[in-house]
Amino acid sequence: MRHVLIRTATLLGLALPLTALAQAPVVNLYSARHYQTDEALYANFTRTTGIRINRIEAGDEALLERLRTEGRTSPADVLLLVDAARLWKAQSEGLFSPVRSESLEARIPASLRAPATADGIAWFGISTRARVIIVNRSRISPDTVTNYADLANPALKGKVCTRSAAHPYMLSLIAAMIEHQGEEAATQWARGVVANFARAPRGGDTDQIKAVASGECSVALSNTYYLVRIMRSDKPADREMMAKLQVIWPDQGGPGAHINVTGGGVLRHARNPEAALRFLEYLASDDAQRYLADGNNEWPAVPGVRIDNPALTALGAFKADPLPVAALGRSQAAAARLVDRVGWR
Ligand code: FE
Repeated sequence: MRHVLIRTATLLGLALPLTALAQAPVVNLYSARHYQTDEALYANFTRTTGIRINRIEAGDEALLERLRTEGRTSPADVLLLVDAARLWKAQSEGLFSPVRSESLEARIPASLRAPATADGIAWFGISTRARVIIVNRSRISPDTVTNYADLANPALKGKVCTRSAAHPYMLSLIAAMIEHQGEEAATQWARGVVANFARAPRGGDTDQIKAVASGECSVALSNTYYLVRIMRSDKPADREMMAKLQVIWPDQGGPGAHINVTGGGVLRHARNPEAALRFLEYLASDDAQRYLADGNNEWPAVPGVRIDNPALTALGAFKADPLPVAALGRSQAAAARLVDRVGWR
């Protein structure tokens, strides 16, 4: 394809603007998204723009490490990560090339993207997920757990399951607590949660949901999209599991439920920066926002996009923490130290 483009340019001589040469019809994507349903999201981009997507998928930290190692020889144009603090980290390491985009700035709320600098904006959230509390209704009364703070209540001794707090989803929740209450209060909370463990932290969010349903513990935390995935399943085992659970929207009388984002930016050494920006703008389009909501059960980052996901809609309206997600990065190092200090690994 590149060969064809160059030949055309030669035929047209100088009449063809040089920028056309840079419009290679490919974008190289490093993505930490781990959701099968994204296939349709990417296929739709290629169908509508003719731009192919070469994709490498790995965990957030593995991708950051790879980009550091590759430096300016990296083939990657766009980096997608599944946690705001990791995006912040990539930004602080200078991995992104800030962009200016009228459509992205108009569509993505300021609280869901990197702060604007003179050079532009380093990264944009494209979808949101909330971290909610799951309880087993037959084990504890759901109204005894209404806030994250309740997970540290000694009344729940031996009843709380969590994943390792070294994971970004937990670190960002703890970072939000540090932002709201300070490090001391967040440390007290974490100590209380550790004292309430039903078992040593293990597994991912879905494992915590299963452990609550099975009665191994009574309460846990999960990102909403894992939950909605089970809500949408027609497997009898999943239906049985959901029937035992109650979802609690935490801190509705306080700052609101903790929110995190999937987001991305154009990389500093991108060879296809125009295609990269076009891809990011696509992710903020109504179409792509619907794919994210309907396919992977995330809320659109763009306000007012109509979605068709009855299970996600059934979770209902809730108060989301308005804390700008970029702040999760600011307190991330403090959160990591806290986790070490209280032994929540
Ligand atoms: Fe996940």
